[in-house]
Amino acid sequence: MKSAVTKTKPESGESGGTGTARKPEKPRKRYRPFIIRAWCKNCGICAAFCPKQVYRRDDAGAHVEKPEECIGCRFCEMHCPDLAISVQEWDAAPGENVP
Ligand code: SF4
Ligand code: SF4
Repeated sequence: MKSAVTKTKPESGESGGTGTARKPEKPRKRYRPFIIRAWCKNCGICAAFCPKQVYRRDDAGAHVEKPEECIGCRFCEMHCPDLAISVQEWDAAPGENVP
């Protein structure tokens, strides 16, 4: 014979309830693109794809003009035909302003 067991949802604040426990925040990321100058043929694709206008171009090729604007989407890295771009990432410091 089965015994009758009733489960009740614990009230908020009791042990095992939803309470006020919060998940720890994931560290936010910072990003910065780098260009290997010798490999850049100045095609302009990186500047055309970047949604944050991080790059500037002149006769010498593409330059990382506003690295602080980079959001790490890696469109530039994926589309550079000469693999001249590397987007590096690291954890932002606590309280650091991240775009
Ligand atoms: S996409 Fe690559 S080769 Fe073209 S300008 Fe940018 S860094 Fe240079
Ligand atoms: S990773 Fe995205 S935002 Fe950053 S420079 Fe490349 S295209 Fe621009």
